[in-house]
Amino acid sequence: MTYAAVVLPVPLSRSYIYEVPESLAARVVPGARVVVPLRRRSVVGIVTEAVGHLPSAGIDVKPIIAAPDDEPAISAPLLELGRWMSDYYGAPLGLSLRAILPGPLWSVARPAGPAPAAERVLVLTGNGMDSLLERERRFKRAPQRRVVYETVEALGGSAPVSHLVEQLRLSRNSIDGLVREGLARIEHVPEIRDPFAGLSTPPPPSLTEDQRRVVEGIRGTDLHQPALIHGVTGSGKTLVYLDLLRAVVQSGNGAILLVPEIALTPQTVARVRGVFGDSVAVLHSGLSDGERADAWRALRRGERLVAVGPRSAVFAPVQRLGAIVVDEEHEPSYKQGSAPRYHARDAAAMRAQLEGARLILGSATPSLETLSDERIVTFTLPDRVEARPLPPVEVVDLRSAPRIAAPETPPGAIPWSEALDIAISGALERGEQVILLLNRRGFATFVQCPACGNVPGCPQCAIALTVHQTPPVMRCHYCGHEEPIPETCVVCGHATQRLRGLGTQQLEHFLGLRYPRARIARMDLDTTSSKWAHHHILDRVARGEIDILLGTQMIAKGLDFPNVTVVGVVDADTGLHFPDFRAGERTFQLVAQVAGRAGRGARGGRVFVQTRAPDHHAIRAAAAHSVSQFAAAELPLRSPPNPPYPPRTGLVRFVISHEDNARAAELAEKVASWLRRAVPSVLGPAPCPLMRLKGKWRWHVLAKSAEPRVLGRVVRAWRAKPHRDVTVDRDPVSLL
Ligand code: ADP
Ligand code: ZN
Repeated sequence: MTYAAVVLPVPLSRSYIYEVPESLAARVVPGARVVVPLRRRSVVGIVTEAVGHLPSAGIDVKPIIAAPDDEPAISAPLLELGRWMSDYYGAPLGLSLRAILPGPLWSVARPAGPAPAAERVLVLTGNGMDSLLERERRFKRAPQRRVVYETVEALGGSAPVSHLVEQLRLSRNSIDGLVREGLARIEHVPEIRDPFAGLSTPPPPSLTEDQRRVVEGIRGTDLHQPALIHGVTGSGKTLVYLDLLRAVVQSGNGAILLVPEIALTPQTVARVRGVFGDSVAVLHSGLSDGERADAWRALRRGERLVAVGPRSAVFAPVQRLGAIVVDEEHEPSYKQGSAPRYHARDAAAMRAQLEGARLILGSATPSLETLSDERIVTFTLPDRVEARPLPPVEVVDLRSAPRIAAPETPPGAIPWSEALDIAISGALERGEQVILLLNRRGFATFVQCPACGNVPGCPQCAIALTVHQTPPVMRCHYCGHEEPIPETCVVCGHATQRLRGLGTQQLEHFLGLRYPRARIARMDLDTTSSKWAHHHILDRVARGEIDILLGTQMIAKGLDFPNVTVVGVVDADTGLHFPDFRAGERTFQLVAQVAGRAGRGARGGRVFVQTRAPDHHAIRAAAAHSVSQFAAAELPLRSPPNPPYPPRTGLVRFVISHEDNARAAELAEKVASWLRRAVPSVLGPAPCPLMRLKGKWRWHVLAKSAEPRVLGRVVRAWRAKPHRDVTVDRDPVSLL
């Protein structure tokens, strides 16, 4: 009799032993999917090894039920990658393997087919509602209906019912009420089509001299040597990636191109398809389970050679892997937020090493980790294509710059400098486009009582509630808790309340008043919760139907619109003072990236950065488009005699959370004293900057060491005796 060790997709490192029936013996090899009995159910697991004899006699071993695949679902190098993630990040092997294989392949039943083909959409009929009197009469006794009506109005007159009910949490009754009154009707429209279907843009006819130099330079370096393409915004990095990958594919090998999800626009996909046609599989988040499983199989069988996608595409089952490109390698979204808390760039480096593939990183604002890594060779693209200049950046000091008074708001509520205002008006007059960044969604950041200073906070989280309009509500951005906006102070009873802190909704409202003829679109989490929403917004910008695009950090990445001549950073300081050692780096990257959206066409462009910290090194370096200037100022802050931080040291963060604060603190102290025995430098325990989240108190402890082995030992020791109130995050990207 032979046996196999099988790992299940659960937070456990141990494997289960099953008997291998003779008929399945050929298929039950390491990496193979198997269906096995577990208590009274059947579950899918992964074979990790053959077991010669049972560890102890007399244990009850059940036989494997099925082995559905001809080839193991997880190749030998991917299984090895799973083991590495498990060891490096201190995550149970079951979770690492679950991350590697897409969800539908873990289901015993056959994966579901594509999503249903029709969608219910609420369409306003407009019956007499232009008259304000009529509107008042109709909605006087139906405030909920008014909210629905005005929300759909704000969304352009129609919206999917599922979006209104599930994302915006509007009432179904009010929707039905509007339909009964003839103010709206329900239409069944075909499911919005995949905006990526059939796209293809042929590549530019030839590489620029700089691009050719980088392509040849990288081809000339040893395959095992990772490369960084440090190219300014608009230097044509994408074409360099595609040219390198084309050679890989032409020699019969496969490739992976990782991009941040938000940068996976139809434009990007079209460029990739323009080179690889049908040999590429695009693994975007909009795929249905069935489509995802199909794409996975096509790659596994070698029918498609190139995978393009966000973070998890690093595990795509590409055959004969020749190269992995990580575009925008500095992006925090490459880090997974739950176990295994892997960083896709680092997982890509390990996978490339395991499969003998080339690793290519690219960014206009590389992370300090990458810049300080001596194994990486850097290739630069110092200029934009077609000798277009980088846009000049004007830093506007909000403390002293002349300002425009905003109608309907208290003085100073909207930071609007004359310089930015004049630039926008000029661009609009010339028919050019404007991009405005404000990295804070909602209407106002918080409500404050002008008499006693009280700020309503979330009862579950230690954070102020953010004010939203349409529908009017205060909402917690961490747990989603909602409350009505108070008219009087709950503490002192004062009769009026003040809205403080500018959010994107209020900015949109202000822009509408200030530039009444401009066509304005807002892109943030609230306007992009439905499938494909951000593609529709960007499409309209590309077609010239939008004059001003405003939004959160979502609009800072990868956009290439030649008619954008003015970029404004409305408030560069929103993240500058976060209690996180990367606050400066994030601000630098965000401002430099959004500045890079200006002047990509023949008309050139200008950037305005409004700030109250014009001398901060992050702002100054971003204004100079200079990564080296930023690194030269920032690295000493993370090096001795200052307390060292990455990249000067490795970091592991333990977060302890519990309903009872005293219990959390006590447990944190236990974790810290356990750590102090193994690691020379331990910080804390201390309350997390975000002290309370979803009803739990949070404490954290940081372990630092320049020796990766020391931290590796610690996370593996922790993995062996995990605690359900403690999470471990190696190389954390956020300390909040
Ligand atoms: P980056 O990613 O470095 O910001 P992109 O790859 O978006 O830059 O390229 C910027 C613009 O330059 C795009 O519109 C692209 O089509 C164009 N471009 C890139 N390479 C060339 C080339 N060799 N010839 C002509 N146009 C190019
Ligand atoms: Zn909350």
